[in-house]
Amino acid sequence: MSLRAFTTAKELDVAGGIRRPMRSDGTSSLRSWLRSDLSASEVPWLAASVTTLIWNGPPGSRITVAVVGDGFGPQEQDAYNTAVDRLLTDGLFAQDFFGEHRSAFNLVRVNLVSLESGVGTKTYDADGNVIRKIDRDTALGTYYNGDWAHLWVEDGPSTEARLTSALSELVPEHRLKVVVLNRPEFGACGGNWRTTVSLGISWPTLAHEFGHAMGRLGDEYHKRDETYRGIEPTEPNLTTNTDRETLKWGWIVGAETPLPTGGDDYTPPKPSGWHNSQSVGLFEGGHGSYRFGVYRPVLNCRMNSNDPRFCPVCASVMEAVTAKHLAAAPLSEGDGTGYVRLVVRLEQGVLRVLEAREFDGPFVETGLVTQGFAHEVRIGDRRVALGSLPDAGVSRGFSEIGTDGPREHVVHRPDSFDFVVRVASAELRGADLSQLTVDLVSVGADRGDALGEVPLREDPALDVTPIASLADLSLADLPMSLRRIVAPE
Ligand SMILES: [Zn+2]
Repeated sequence: MSLRAFTTAKELDVAGGIRRPMRSDGTSSLRSWLRSDLSASEVPWLAASVTTLIWNGPPGSRITVAVVGDGFGPQEQDAYNTAVDRLLTDGLFAQDFFGEHRSAFNLVRVNLVSLESGVGTKTYDADGNVIRKIDRDTALGTYYNGDWAHLWVEDGPSTEARLTSALSELVPEHRLKVVVLNRPEFGACGGNWRTTVSLGISWPTLAHEFGHAMGRLGDEYHKRDETYRGIEPTEPNLTTNTDRETLKWGWIVGAETPLPTGGDDYTPPKPSGWHNSQSVGLFEGGHGSYRFGVYRPVLNCRMNSNDPRFCPVCASVMEAVTAKHLAAAPLSEGDGTGYVRLVVRLEQGVLRVLEAREFDGPFVETGLVTQGFAHEVRIGDRRVALGSLPDAGVSRGFSEIGTDGPREHVVHRPDSFDFVVRVASAELRGADLSQLTVDLVSVGADRGDALGEVPLREDPALDVTPIASLADLSLADLPMSLRRIVAPE
């Protein structure tokens, strides 16, 4: 076991300024700071430590990825570390798009030492009933079910609380969460900027899923001979439109390329030099199920079969999402003197601020509003925070070539989810709460350019459906941590 190497002062510092007494073996005990919603009897891990694997700048300014293991006992921490390197450090973040945009990311590994090895298992019958369940006493209490229809992997009743508890202390500022289960088979699901995988996954599958999570890219594969009869897809890489003048990705289609261009192959004769993942036209088939009636940009993109690079259309979306986080981009929103990270929960149509935490240093948001959920915070007439939540409210099973797919994603839509809002501290300190509004909306139209000053919910260009609002607040409505920021004594 090699936990000792993780806990230098620098590593702890960059992970969020954690300073706590270390045990003699170099690990820290988390038992003293678990959130109150975990009882003492549930304290679920032997030890915990944090290691920064990729570091490109202050965590609020980068897309900080926190990776956490479950079911790795004291003797298996090296195996976990190796898996993290294979999937992320030397996998995703060393290859094509994510390798080239590595400076937009931080990667922080959390080692939670589980009491037992492996994770719990569940077996379902054809009707969806659990017919066999084996529990394991692991750090996060996850389960492996190995069943495509049940998203392969699943949380136990306290998994989310345990994960939140560990990360709020060890990597308090993070955007993407990856949970790695100690099971050798294939399994993976994701949504709302969290991905849960078992050891049988490969990095290209993660890259495909990050395309959904970060860019709201659609699936470019088609697994059935069905005909798409829906409205124009909101995903930037799918369309029903065959008109060259108004095509979403018309900017990159050559004048000599016929539209449509083909289906599973270029309609002959295929021009010499045509590249299956990089030469753009209009190919029929996509959106998971549909062989007809919906079109994708290239023959075979990463959003089709995982292994190829992102096509130029998908890459342009991912470029836009990462651009402001790149190390070369100027830092900071607000005045750079700190910001507050709010965790907001949507539950049964109601918004609630769960927690607030103040950070020093700069933060960056993309400032883009894509289709799907988006949030806005305003104080009176001023917008003080804005962000997209591309795959909030979705839980999606993965599949992988060579093992079991790719097959269509099985999608569950939880009716409750949390999202993060970052606001410059100066905006909140002494703010008039009666003027503060938090809006969660669903956006139907794509609009990558700068937004107008009207509230998101009233923007005629966005095709907005209001989901929930938080307004007419008083101090008593806020968690204590936020009260202290808004109304310091
Ligand atoms: Zn693509």
